[in-house]
Amino acid sequence: MTSSTLSRIILANAASMIAFALIIASAPLFAQTDIGVSKTIQPPLHTPVPGGIAVLKLPNNLTASETPPTAYYQNTQVMLLPPTATQTNHWLAIVGIPLTTAPGTHQLNIRSGEKTRYSLPFTIVDKTYQEQRITLTNKRQVNPLTNDLQRIRREKNIMVAAFKDWSTSLGPSMKLTQPAIGPISSPFGLRRFFNDQPRKPHSGLDIAAPEGTPIQAPAEAIVIATGDYFFNGKTVLLNHGHGLITMYCHMSRIDVSKGALVQRNDTLGLIGKTGRATGPHLHWSVSLNNARIDPNLLMTKTPPHTPLKQSIDQ
Ligand SMILES: [Zn+2]
Repeated sequence: MTSSTLSRIILANAASMIAFALIIASAPLFAQTDIGVSKTIQPPLHTPVPGGIAVLKLPNNLTASETPPTAYYQNTQVMLLPPTATQTNHWLAIVGIPLTTAPGTHQLNIRSGEKTRYSLPFTIVDKTYQEQRITLTNKRQVNPLTNDLQRIRREKNIMVAAFKDWSTSLGPSMKLTQPAIGPISSPFGLRRFFNDQPRKPHSGLDIAAPEGTPIQAPAEAIVIATGDYFFNGKTVLLNHGHGLITMYCHMSRIDVSKGALVQRNDTLGLIGKTGRATGPHLHWSVSLNNARIDPNLLMTKTPPHTPLKQSIDQ
């Protein structure tokens, strides 16, 4: 797909979102919701690309159902916003789309009560992310030793379990503030080659800043894991509720413990270059239903992109 085709799709979606916003504006106000929010949640923009977010309207007959619906994409539970949260007459599914997803028709599986089952089709369109070629002088970080592989596997399991964690005690949150001040040195989704060997695409956003710069929670969350990992270095994982998980890597210092409740702007620790990093920066991953998505899609404002060679990671 060409970028102009994608632009047209995004524009078409933007137009439908504007129409949607007009409908919301004319709708009567609902009472406070049962999820602890007193004002309307603005859903993210419908961006149905790999690494994006699909915002899907559930059938209207679920609105009056006594049992709240649940929805699953690729067998993973997804975030739902109730009608009261968006002041509309339907539930909304906020679906994270993994970077590796093939374009085409996909299904959201919806359940309500014992008997109700729906399959809601939606279309994912292609997106080509930029290529990045990196030369790493530490060969062990390009091709880890056999001894390292066991450690890498163990740490990966911890992170995967954290990304799959489902909790409804907080959120849902739709707006994240930038966790550290600094320019974006590597955007999300880059197709990477380390010493000319293809590697997984860049699943987060890199923010370059001097070592010791504070890293702050982008929204209320519970700390679900901390550790010092082979690739990611000193790392914190936060659970914001309803499948929204964020991860902070390469820190020089961690100031929070597992289980702690943090508020927006609370300090999590300091920027560093631990793990596979050639310079101080924060690698920040944002995950919805275990799909790493472009953090910009949930950020309150988009920071400038300044390519910096020295802050490279995974
Ligand atoms: Zn990164």
